[in-house]
Amino acid sequence: MQKKYLKSIPSVNDILAEKLAEKIKNDYSRNDLIEGIRAVTEKIRGEILAEDFDGDNFESSRLSAESILLEVDKYLKNIYQPKMTAAINATGVIIHTNLGRSILSKKAVEAVREVAEHYSTLEIDRESGERGHRYQALQDSLKKLTGAEAAVVVNNNAGAVTIALAALAADKEVVISRGELVEIGGSFRVPEVMEQSGAHLVEVGATNKVYLKDYINAYNENTGAFLKVHTSNYRIMGFTEMVDAAELTEFAHKKDIPVIEDLGSGILFDLQKYGLNYEPTVKECIEDDIDIVTFSGDKLLGGPQAGVIVGKKKYINQIEYHPLMRALRVDKFTIAALEATLKQYRNFEKAIKNIPTLRMLTEDEFEVKHRAEKLLKLLKKSKLYKLEISKDTAKVGGGAYPLIDINTFVLKIDPQTISAEEFTYNLRQQDVPVFSRISEGSVILDMKTIQEKEIAQLAEILNDTFWRKENE
Ligand SMILES: *Cc1c(COP(=O)(O)O)cnc(C)c1O
Repeated sequence: MQKKYLKSIPSVNDILAEKLAEKIKNDYSRNDLIEGIRAVTEKIRGEILAEDFDGDNFESSRLSAESILLEVDKYLKNIYQPKMTAAINATGVIIHTNLGRSILSKKAVEAVREVAEHYSTLEIDRESGERGHRYQALQDSLKKLTGAEAAVVVNNNAGAVTIALAALAADKEVVISRGELVEIGGSFRVPEVMEQSGAHLVEVGATNKVYLKDYINAYNENTGAFLKVHTSNYRIMGFTEMVDAAELTEFAHKKDIPVIEDLGSGILFDLQKYGLNYEPTVKECIEDDIDIVTFSGDKLLGGPQAGVIVGKKKYINQIEYHPLMRALRVDKFTIAALEATLKQYRNFEKAIKNIPTLRMLTEDEFEVKHRAEKLLKLLKKSKLYKLEISKDTAKVGGGAYPLIDINTFVLKIDPQTISAEEFTYNLRQQDVPVFSRISEGSVILDMKTIQEKEIAQLAEILNDTFWRKENE
């Protein structure tokens, strides 16, 4: 029986002669079509040859050229379907690295769109019509917002730290406190980044304590820089001692050595008034006379992925003309989005309304509750699910504010017939996937990170998921 079925699989040429093949060829290349036919016929052959093949229940109609082509069409559609799609973040982690960190403000999105659809003044001087300066648009805003003498931007903060060390301290010793040898996100380890830059690591102090005298003792004629890393994703608590940045810069500058600070998240304004803990702002670091400060564009700043470098002009120049700069340079979309994001900071009250990351971080909790109620209202009632709005805590994420919990409201879903795992799996398989969390057996949709404009769509997805399960 297996032999009979194997023999009835049509040849590639026979399949190609079918009308439907012509139609598929309109959308894909001939090579794709042939690859698809081979893949589908191989799969069918494999099924027939499998040990548990059940000849009596095999639908021989699957062997017609037409039905094979229908499968080929599905196969090719799947290959060419966009794999990176928009998603709904119901995890409650505001800066979620795996979900793309910050989402952009409307103004930033418009700016990206403009330079995507048109030519732009990326690197041209309007006065002379000659080649201009790529970072000009960003430099003015960054100088104003941070008080720094100069600024430049690279691909991400890891790149910013690497190029700063390479430009200022290659083949030299870089002194860093043991308490600051952190790992961020599993792929950014301070010691490894330092090694890549060609600088030699000199560790001082103990994990919980470091004194100015430790830095002073480590100093010698080979010292190229002092590095401070903001321990943004963890805290050493209790019996601790840190060196004041201003004290360190005072000593370093007597020896004409730069101090570099990797600030990680980099806030431009103090957020304490919104109930968040104290974190040093970029401006405060500059006021402490730190020579080079680096931070990410897509963490608390709320812009695109970028590594912002601000500081003293003489050091920024060395960084800007370092050969690595060409490898780490940002494209026009990043510049457009970052410029538009930074411009919004001129009015901080507006910035926290319009930059999504800042809005989620600072909004009043009744706004979150309001979103939860709005979603609940749109959901079909069903006996198979218990739905409840409850108070919970969300996280900042992105290695920022590690210790704080943010008040939030969540929609708690208790599926009665399937497991929470199965339910969250179903949510992830939707055209617009939804990422949620599970807590004590319940599915938790955290309204903190669900955008107002996503509520109707999310309701549709949930109703569809409920409904389908109910009717199976
Ligand atoms: C996040 C972070 C980095 C890495 O920044 P990317 O923009 O992801 O490259 C480096 N240092 C610190 C302290 C960070 O928090």
